[in-house]
Amino acid sequence: KSKNRLNPSEYIDGILKGDRVLLSRAITIIESNLESDKILAKEIVQAILPSSGNSIRIGITGVPGVGKSTFIEVFGKHLIQQGHRVAILSIDPSSQRSKGSILGDKTRMEELANLEEAYIRPSASGDTLGGVSNKTGETVLLCEAAGYDVILIETVGVGQSETAVHGMTDFFLLLMLAGAGDELQGIKKGIMEMADMVVINKADGENVRMSQMAKRQYQNALHIFPQSESGWSPVVSTASAIKNIGIDKVWNEIKKYKKLVLENGYFIKNRNHQQIQWMYNNINEELKQLFYGSTNIKSHLQTLEKDIIEAKISPVKAAEKIIGEFKNSFEKNSK
Ligand code: GDP
Repeated sequence: KSKNRLNPSEYIDGILKGDRVLLSRAITIIESNLESDKILAKEIVQAILPSSGNSIRIGITGVPGVGKSTFIEVFGKHLIQQGHRVAILSIDPSSQRSKGSILGDKTRMEELANLEEAYIRPSASGDTLGGVSNKTGETVLLCEAAGYDVILIETVGVGQSETAVHGMTDFFLLLMLAGAGDELQGIKKGIMEMADMVVINKADGENVRMSQMAKRQYQNALHIFPQSESGWSPVVSTASAIKNIGIDKVWNEIKKYKKLVLENGYFIKNRNHQQIQWMYNNINEELKQLFYGSTNIKSHLQTLEKDIIEAKISPVKAAEKIIGEFKNSFEKNSK
């Protein structure tokens, strides 16, 4: 993490040439909370924007231990054999809080990490959902501009970041295990519902039969969900990451999906929707900060809380009052 910043154009040219060192340094700037870095980051992103987007963005989730890193290692190598360049961004919500995070484990995806065509990077989310959307989202753009045409975004599958990742990907892959109930696996129904494909991993040895059963169960479970706007029916399959079985099937399904949604227009429609939504999420976040960050508002809120408890004012009226004050101060300022 060098303190010596380069000119914006040096980062931009470096990224466009696929220079991994400059790509990494630019991502560090995107992740930084320094005001000067934020300005630089915006300039870089703005400049590379026309060169971004040319990829398939795949979200991969599943609870710790399901085999994500093992799967990504073989899946990534398979993609590279097919001539792709793969960027892997791992979002680890625990990394901020405890230093002993799973992603800190250097042995993860060791072989893949050594390949020239792979770029692996833990993505610092800054502990907030807005952080995942903005920082990981902009990191995706940079990786695309650097020539990576498959972007894998990995999450741990227990938190809220899955929704944010779903909101920035084209295809959502859920890894599961046979024999453990959904409850046990900590996978919420909402995550199941987002999945374009469910892969029952560790379908090897004694696990094969159970995995086949689990496959049928998930197939039935997915049928209950309403048809997705994409026109795609979620696929369930079994795989063994360790034995490299069923990995090619996953990629074939993703290719089928891409073909379908390119033809029916959903691919573009969904990406456009995601971009617009990204802006609105930021507007909402900024507005909230503008409001709750104001010292005036803070002290008035305290008074209002007291008044509500003493039944001097109704909650609805209180909200209306304070928003009214905010609007007035806002209008005064803009004159
Ligand atoms: P992650 O926490 O989801 O990234 O899971 P890992 O990839 O670290 O795998 C957790 C454990 O499961 C490791 O001991 C792996 O060797 C093992 N594992 C991963 N994939 C398979 C598989 O396909 N079959 C079997 N039998 N074990 C696997």
